[in-house]
Amino acid sequence: MRDRLVVGNWKSNGTLVANQALLEQVKNAAPKWSGVTCGVCVPYPYLAQTQHVLARSVVLWGAQDVSQYGTGAYTGAVAAPMLFDFGCRYVIVGHSERRTLFGESDAVVAVKFEAALKAKLTPILCVGESLQEREAGVTESVVARQLAAVIERTGADAVAGAVIAYEPVWAIGTGRNATPEQAQSVHAFIRGTIAAQAAQASGMTILYGGSVKAANAAPLFAMPDIDGGLIGGASLVADEFMAICRAAARQ
Ligand code: PEP
Repeated sequence: MRDRLVVGNWKSNGTLVANQALLEQVKNAAPKWSGVTCGVCVPYPYLAQTQHVLARSVVLWGAQDVSQYGTGAYTGAVAAPMLFDFGCRYVIVGHSERRTLFGESDAVVAVKFEAALKAKLTPILCVGESLQEREAGVTESVVARQLAAVIERTGADAVAGAVIAYEPVWAIGTGRNATPEQAQSVHAFIRGTIAAQAAQASGMTILYGGSVKAANAAPLFAMPDIDGGLIGGASLVADEFMAICRAAARQ
């Protein structure tokens, strides 16, 4: 049986004071949850604070993006080894907000994924279709294309060793989550696609993301191919985030 993973994506939110309270609460509650790993992906300026609070706790942390370049003359960019330096385990790559608002192509996402791996980080690769694509019936071909770009660059074994987050764009920040059956169907497709090329796909972690809250988490996590969640808005509210982690824990 695969262990569960619940990761908060704080997006561009936080203050030193609010973060401190949130991180302390999650850190204190996390040892009570069995069979689930809990993590937070925070804005870059708060990595030092996050590392300081969570060091020696069971809660892992990471960033929400990484440069496709290494260290060097890339003004404003944050290279993967810098994230490793701050104790990051995870980095989100290819979030739909990066793809749509910052124009990241499948090819750029694949380079970022590879950069994360080279720095010994675990990439959380986000894939998912827009509402228009779902309504046009092309969800699977969109997700297959997004996966193929990364598989082509790093190989299927590397993708199977990372974390995938299925995040339908129409469910992110909208309050409208995919039904457990809709999500399960795409998760099974993702696992099957990778399993066709990498034996360890049966053990890989595939998260669902898109308007997960305490009230809808349990039925999503009950699906056989949903191994936890990538949580946006609800990860900023300690009680909500902790309830979602509890829902993912071994009961
Ligand atoms: C996300 O940003 O990855 C996300 C899933 O957001 P939300 O939970 O707010 O829909």
